[in-house]
Amino acid sequence: MRTGIATICLSGTLEEKLAAAADAGFDGVELFEPDLIGSRLSPAEVRIRAAELGLSIDLYQPFRDFEGVPVDQLERNLRRAEAKFDVMEALGADTILVCSNVSDDAIDDDGLAAQQLHALAERAAARDIRVAYEALAWGRHINEYDRAWRVVHASDHQALGVCLDSFHILSRGTSLDAIAEIPADKLFFVQLADAPHLVMDVLQWSRHYRSFPGQGGFELADFTARVLEAGYAGPFSLEVFNDVFRQADPRRIAVDAMRSLLALAEFVPGADSGRLPPPAASHGYAFVELAVEPASVGETQRLLHAMGFAQTAQHRTKPVALWQHGDVRILLNAGAAAAPGVAAIAVESADPDHSARRAEGLLAPVLSRQRGPDEAELSSIAAPDGTSVFFCRSDAQPDTRGWLQDFDALAPTGREAPTGLSRIDHVALAQPFDYFDEAVLFYRSVLGLEPHESLELAAPDGLVRSRAVSAADGNLRLVLTVPVLARDAAQHAGLQHVAFACRDIFGAAQRMRERGIGPLSIPENYYDDLAARLDLEPAAIEAMRECGVLYDRARGGEFLHFYTPIVGDRLFFEVVERRGGYDGYGAANAPVRMTAQRVPETVTEAAFAHRRPRITPAEREGDGAYNHA
Ligand code: MG
Ligand code: MG
Repeated sequence: MRTGIATICLSGTLEEKLAAAADAGFDGVELFEPDLIGSRLSPAEVRIRAAELGLSIDLYQPFRDFEGVPVDQLERNLRRAEAKFDVMEALGADTILVCSNVSDDAIDDDGLAAQQLHALAERAAARDIRVAYEALAWGRHINEYDRAWRVVHASDHQALGVCLDSFHILSRGTSLDAIAEIPADKLFFVQLADAPHLVMDVLQWSRHYRSFPGQGGFELADFTARVLEAGYAGPFSLEVFNDVFRQADPRRIAVDAMRSLLALAEFVPGADSGRLPPPAASHGYAFVELAVEPASVGETQRLLHAMGFAQTAQHRTKPVALWQHGDVRILLNAGAAAAPGVAAIAVESADPDHSARRAEGLLAPVLSRQRGPDEAELSSIAAPDGTSVFFCRSDAQPDTRGWLQDFDALAPTGREAPTGLSRIDHVALAQPFDYFDEAVLFYRSVLGLEPHESLELAAPDGLVRSRAVSAADGNLRLVLTVPVLARDAAQHAGLQHVAFACRDIFGAAQRMRERGIGPLSIPENYYDDLAARLDLEPAAIEAMRECGVLYDRARGGEFLHFYTPIVGDRLFFEVVERRGGYDGYGAANAPVRMTAQRVPETVTEAAFAHRRPRITPAEREGDGAYNHA
């Protein structure tokens, strides 16, 4: 399928936009008129520049408020069009986008609109130009694609066809059935945009919140499949107005855009997605690598130890230790320069090379890795947030060296004391503000994960957006977060955590406490509210209160979880127990957690937390209840 992108999607000058589109591999662009008007390049120079870059100019847009006007205005509008045709000839662009009239003065008369569009098509045909007519979702009278098609059909001119824009159609919930009625030779142009489901004015929705396919909530695979079935053979062009993309690096956004089309094609029957290998079967996390600066190494080790991990091996050439709790593996890299965090996630893949090829096919940057002579070859790529993603097989293979063989086993210390952790449940990664949507699409498409609903959570420092992506069988889960508004230092939105699954949350909390670290303390008010909200046994609530365990329930399942203190202002751990069909992440509790973290407890303070006298509700209501502490 031919690919295109509207210059409006990208930031920068026209030259920068064209270069970014070409670098990302697009076949063509839609030239947004204000980008030309603001450029020092003449239309002829733009044509040369685009040709040098291997880009065609597939569409010139937009031409507004043409049809359905009083008869005495037609001639003036046609003169306006002729001036555009002059520009298009110099550009070498053969299709103009005419969007439906939004003026309050537009006349509600499809016959008149058809007549006037016929006159426009006549002038265009004389210059070998085609007119693609698009129903804007907020058009004054013509705001549905099927009505635009009826007008085009009535107009009956070979130089006039329709432009279908997925946003205008899907935002209104219009049935897609009429697409099949439009002859292929009348489908002049197709624009693709996704968007989150929002209840707001459709014009504002369109101008600020469009996103690339796979980043919002629209059924774009169905839309694209129907357009292909109708015989459309032109470019699929992205037209995305998005406040964040407009301020981000155009080269990155162009790559993100191209990735969205590659990923979309995978779900569209009949679309050419031949070069993309399907995701290999993945079996959860092989390991998570934490990079920790020297000052935080001790605290991190202490936390891992309290959670029942033991250092079992040391990398032969790098300052990296392997910590294990059964089959749950954490690599602790003590060589970080800055705050501690997740440096890498490793996916257990049935075929690591295949997984890496798929990632490359989706334009993921492949990381070259410094490797000693006898060390295992590990395929890895860089995610948009800088996290490395490894693909590996931890079980021994006869012909290849496994990554575990790069580690020298240490003698058991005899201090191993399992706390019942069974696997890594999820990893939560804070994302750079400009690249949140990119990251969601990246992890989703590269790892073959399903996106969950986007949530907005109240942190004490501002709203945080959170979106999870997970494998259908739940063995691989990621939670991505970003502050809703850009800011210089969004400390608590920038936290990262690794969550471990267990089958006995209270036992895990108890054993961690016995090993010297209490869970993040949760306010009494939380448990009072829990008792008021849910029909839980008082003893169950008391047990949760005792262990700092939070609770959520959904879809007949339950979720119990607690958090550790924070290391180095950035990293913490979570222990979770999923019961029944619960598939979420305790988002309802995130505001309580983020507020509790606002007054940080260090690992050392937490070690003594259980010795603090617990304050009963009765005491709290009396005078001086807090004087205990
Ligand atoms: Mg459009
Ligand atoms: Mg979590």
